[in-house]
Amino acid sequence: MHIKKQRLLTPGPTPLYPPALHAMMASDIHHRTEDFRKAYRSCLADLKEVMGTSHDVLLFAASGTGAMDATISNLFSKGDKVVVCSAGKFGERWAEIAKAYGLDANVLTVPYGQVVQPGQVEEALARDPAIKGVFVQASETSTGAAHDVEAMGRAVSKTGAILVVDAITGLGTMPLDIDGWGLDVLIGGSQKAFMIPPGLTFLSISPKAWKLTETATLPHYYFNLKKEKKSGEAGESSWTPATSLILALAESLRYIKQLGMSKLVENAQLLAQATRAAALRMGLELFAPGSPAASATAVKAPAGMDSGIIVKEFKSRFGAVIANGQGSMKGQIFRIAHLGYFDFADLFAVIAGLEIILNANGFPVKYGTGVAAVEEIYERAAVKPQPVHA
Ligand SMILES: *Cc1c(COP(=O)(O)O)cnc(C)c1O
Repeated sequence: MHIKKQRLLTPGPTPLYPPALHAMMASDIHHRTEDFRKAYRSCLADLKEVMGTSHDVLLFAASGTGAMDATISNLFSKGDKVVVCSAGKFGERWAEIAKAYGLDANVLTVPYGQVVQPGQVEEALARDPAIKGVFVQASETSTGAAHDVEAMGRAVSKTGAILVVDAITGLGTMPLDIDGWGLDVLIGGSQKAFMIPPGLTFLSISPKAWKLTETATLPHYYFNLKKEKKSGEAGESSWTPATSLILALAESLRYIKQLGMSKLVENAQLLAQATRAAALRMGLELFAPGSPAASATAVKAPAGMDSGIIVKEFKSRFGAVIANGQGSMKGQIFRIAHLGYFDFADLFAVIAGLEIILNANGFPVKYGTGVAAVEEIYERAAVKPQPVHA
C-alpha cells in the first residue's frame, strides 16, 4: 500500500482553493455585525465584478438548484407559458421544476451530447408570443456540451420573454456577457468554478426580469428575491447566512479577481482543449464533439468497457474521484473536469492515469500518447509561471 492522495476531480464539487478553506475557520463570528457585513458586502460586489454585470446580484444559502427554484417561484405564475431547452440531466431539472410549479412548458429536447439550436428557440418564440421565459444551461454538465447563449440572448431579448441561464458550470469556463447578450437571470454555484464547497448559490437579475415580480403569483417564502435585494443592500442576508462559506467565497473571489475572470475562463478552455486532444490521440471518442463545453469533457468509454471501471480504478489506484455519466449515460461515459482550481499538473496526472487504466482493461494505448498531446498544448499556450497562491 503506497500513498494515495485524495483528489477531487469532478465537475462539482471541485478542488478547493486552500486559502478559502482556511478562511472558513474564522466562522466564529455573528452575522449581524459590522465585521460580517464587510465580508458579505465584498462577496456581493466582487461577484458582480467577476460576473461583469450591472444587474443586481443576489446570494442564497443553497445548492445551485435553490436559485433555479427561486427564479421560477419568484418570477412566474401558475399556467405561464415557457420554453425549456433540454439537452441533458440539468435541462431535465428545469423541466421538472417548471412542472412542479404548474408552468405550461414547451420542452425542446435534443439527444444527450447535442445542444438546442438558437433557431429552435427563435421558432418556438415566434409561434407563441405569450411565452414569458426561456430556460437553458450555458454548460450542460451531464453531457459536456455548451449552448450558444449569446445567440439565444439576442433572439429572446427581441421578445417579451426573459432568458434564464443556468450558468452554474458556465461561469468561469466560457465568456458570458450578461448585459450585452441579454441574459436576464444568470445563476452560479459555489462548488463549481468558484473553488469552495457546496452550499452557496447566486444569481444576477435584469430590470426586465425584476418587472415580472410585479405580476408573479407563485407562492414562495425562503427564496424571496425582493427581500433578498433589500437585505443585500444593508450588507446582510434575509436569514442566517452560511457564514463559513461566505468567508470562503470572499477569499476565492479575491483570488479570481487577481487572476482575472478571463484568465479563469482561458484556463478551463486550455485544459478542455488539451483533454480533447489527448482523448482523440488515445483513440477515444468524445461524447459532445459538436459543441464541447470547457467545464468538463465527456469521453465515451471504449466499446465493451463500462466507464464505471475507469471511475473505480481512478479511485482504487490513484485516490482520485472522477465523474461517471449520469442517468442513462452511466457506464457509457466518464467526465474530466476543468472548472475552477484545476491546472496542467492535474491534467498530466489524469491523462497518465487514464493511459494506465485503459491498458490494464484491454484497451491498448502506448504510454505517453495522451500525455504528449497535453504537453504540446501546454507548450503552445506558452503558459508563463504564475505565483502559486494570491
Ligand atoms: C451542479 C449543477 C447544478 C446545481 O446542482 P446542485 O446539486 O443543486 O448544486 C445545476 N446545473 C448545472 C449545469 C450544474 O452543473
